[in-house]
Order: sequence, then C-alpha cells, then structure tokens
Amino acid sequence: MSHFSLTNNEDTIIAIATPPGKGAIGIIRVSGKNAISIVSSVFHGKDLSTVPSHTIHLGTIRDEEKIVDEVLVTVFKSPHSYTSEDVIEISCHGSGFILSQVMQLLLSKGARLAKAGEFTLRAFLNGKLDLAQAEAVADIVASDNENARQVAINQMRGGFSTEIKTMREKLVEYASLLELELDFSEEDVEFASRNKLKDLIGEIKSMVDKLIESFMVGNVIKNGVPTVIAGKPNSGKSTLMNALLNEEKAIVSEEEGTTRDFIEDEIHIDGITYRFIDTAGIREARDKIEQMGIERTRKKMKEASVIIYMFDLKNETMESIGHQVEELDQLGIPYIKTGNKTDKASPALLKILEPRKDFILISALKKNNLEGLKKHLKEILDIGRITIGDTVVTNARHYESLYHARQSLGDIMSGMEKNATGDLLAEDVRQTIYYLGEITGEITNDDLLASIFSKFCIGK
Ligand code: GDP
Repeated sequence: MSHFSLTNNEDTIIAIATPPGKGAIGIIRVSGKNAISIVSSVFHGKDLSTVPSHTIHLGTIRDEEKIVDEVLVTVFKSPHSYTSEDVIEISCHGSGFILSQVMQLLLSKGARLAKAGEFTLRAFLNGKLDLAQAEAVADIVASDNENARQVAINQMRGGFSTEIKTMREKLVEYASLLELELDFSEEDVEFASRNKLKDLIGEIKSMVDKLIESFMVGNVIKNGVPTVIAGKPNSGKSTLMNALLNEEKAIVSEEEGTTRDFIEDEIHIDGITYRFIDTAGIREARDKIEQMGIERTRKKMKEASVIIYMFDLKNETMESIGHQVEELDQLGIPYIKTGNKTDKASPALLKILEPRKDFILISALKKNNLEGLKKHLKEILDIGRITIGDTVVTNARHYESLYHARQSLGDIMSGMEKNATGDLLAEDVRQTIYYLGEITGEITNDDLLASIFSKFCIGK
C-alpha cells in the first residue's frame, strides 16, 4: 500500500529540517506553490513575492502582533530550487519550542506537514533528480565514512545514472529499428544490423557486469565488512579485539571537532569499516566460550566476509596448526592466519613461521604488529583496488535490476546465436530496457516510490 499520493503536489509542505534538540539555529523548510504567500502571511520584513531568487532576508515571524522569533528567510524561486517549486527556508533560533510555534503558525495558514522524503520525492517527480540520484541523497545523509560519502556524492551528481541512461538510450534506438523491421516483414529487410547489435549487447553486458561486480565493493563501503575473530579458547581473541577497539577509541577522540560517536565493535581502516560479529560471544566468560562448541563457531564464521583466526603460539605445534588450517580452508571464506603471543612463543615455532608470508605474527597483549594485521585485512579483500571516481553500486535495488538486465542480455545473445526472429529479439531488448529504466526511475510505480522515500528522514 502506498502512503504517497502522487497527485497531491498542490499542497505546500513544511518540515523542520534540522535535528531535534537545541542548536544554534533551527531550519524550517517550506515548498510548494503557496510557499511564498504562506510565509509572507507571518513574516514581517521585505515583500518576499518581489525579492529575487536565492536571496536572504532578515525579519520577524509574528503571530498577530506577537513576535515569535527574529529569523532569516532564504528564498528560492521555482524552478531554481531543490524541489523545483518555490522553496523558503526559515532559519529560526534553535529552540524546539520556537520551531514548533512557527510550524503551528504555518499550518494554520494552510501548509501541511511533509512526509518522510517528500521534498526529495518532489524533486524526483519534477525531474530535478532521477531515482538513483534521489536515493543517493539518503545515502549521503547516512554516510559515516569517507568512501561512503564519496560514492554517494558521485551517485547524486549523476555519475551512476549517466552510464545507465547511455546504455538504455542505445538500446531504445535499437529496439525501434527492430520494430520497424517487423512492419516490413514481408519484404525481408534488415534495418537493425545483427552484427552491430552483437557489438552493442557485448558492450552493454560488460558494463553491466562491471557494475554488478562493484556491488561487492559497494556493499562493503556502505555496510562495512562483517569480520569474525576466531580461534581456540585462550588464543587471545578478546585481547586482540580490545587492543583494536582501544586504538580506534583513541583515534576517534583525537579527531577534534568531530561529533562522530565511537561505535563499539567497529574499526575503520583507510575509510573501510570492519564490523566485528558476535563480539558478545568473545566477551563472555571463558568457561562459557569453551561450552560454545564447534558448531556455533562455524556458524558464526560463515556469516563473516573475513576471519581473523588466532593461533596461540605459546601452546600450538605445527601439526595442530596444520589441522586447523585444513578446516579453515574448507570454509571458503578469506581468513588471516594470525600467530599470537609472539612474546611467549617457542623460538622453534617462530623460526618456521617468520618467513611465511601467509602468517601474520602479533602479540595482542603487547600490541606488537597490529599495523601488519590491519594492512593484511585490507589486502585480503582486495579493497585497495577501489578507486574513487569508479562507478560503484551500493544499492540492493539497483543490484537486483542490473542482475535481471544481465539475464535478459544473455537471452538476446543466445537468441542471436539461434538466429531468432526480429520480434523475439525486440522483446528481449525491451526487457533489458525495462530493467535499466527501473534503476533511474524511467520505469516506476507508486509502491516502489513509497518504499524508497519512506526511508528518508522528514525534512529531506
Ligand atoms: P580468548 O579466550 O581467545 O578470548 O583469549 P583471551 O584474550 O582471553 O586471552 C587468554 C590469555 O592469553 C589471557 O591471559 C591474555 O592476557 C593472554 N594473552 C593474549 N594475548 C597475548 C599475547 O600476545 N602475549 C601473551 N603473553 N599473552 C597473551
């Protein structure tokens, strides 16, 4: 069920655009065809209907004669605004009480409360942003690390959409040639060269493949890398985790002027977030961990994208290490062989392991070589190859559409191999066009829009 009626664009909508609580200023956003007249009815200052777009004006908001607040209003005139409608931003003093008073006043003058994401929805409906760009706006608001921010900004500015649109346009052109052929089917003409189609489909497929591949990376950027620290009881798992988290805590509090919260169970290395899974399990009392049993450990490890597997070099032999490595190899998940307690390890064992590049040797307790471990974490997932500016798919909805598009591209290819008729080919080409159009919003419906925009915050 859709909670958006796409026909109510007649309303003028308002929302508090700043976070709840006290602040230096609080901003109320107003958008719609009556934005200027509604605000003017409570604003004392310049005549807002005659001021140029993109100007700021000092004045007061009044309830009859009573001055509610002294404010700055910023005026954006249609179509030069975020939503493409007339937009006014009222900067009040940042008191929740004042903001709600001003909101009440505006409501009494005929505005209505905006729903979540409704400003961005209007921007989309009015052609200011395509759907992928609109979704990127939500990602920017949610971004909490450098890579996520850059990828989202790139997508909002249209990087992603341009590629999809170019592909789609080429196909649309081709589909109409194929369909033209159908009109002349008696005469056995070929307007749409099959060789050219083959080249075009090949080109599009490799772009789609690249985008699909980038989703792994995109997902990592957006949601972090699920990471598990595993190993026998007493191998030093909780010591390592605390060491990594304490470093993180120190880094976060060193960043002056940032308000970023320290998130327990997360570390950031070069813009990538590693999320530790089941840290509660590690922190449980030791006897409990021992009860945990192999099964639970296995299950937990399967949820990971990377495993830091700890060997207690004080107590292991090459033979026991070998058994564990065999088991780990069967999981099929990238893992790091981490030899811990180098400070207490047997010299013989160290001598064997030191030259081996596949072992990272650390002392979690003495914080030795944690840097080496971190460097390896980054390398093992091949995250280093992300270069900013590359198009990266971060959105599961886009991924799904790309996935379908790839399937129908495959259908076109096998159709051509079997010398399929023009109408069959045209149908598969139309399918591909449809799936690509889903991403940028050329193809859409109310339910989809409702589910996308309801995830936004109010005021965005
Ligand atoms: P877990 O059961 O795997 O979580 O292991 P713990 O982190 O609780 O560590 C078990 C014991 O090993 C504790 O007494 C730690 O102090 C000790 N330990 C952990 N790392 C090191 C290390 O690098 N060197 C030494 N000497 N002891 C360590």
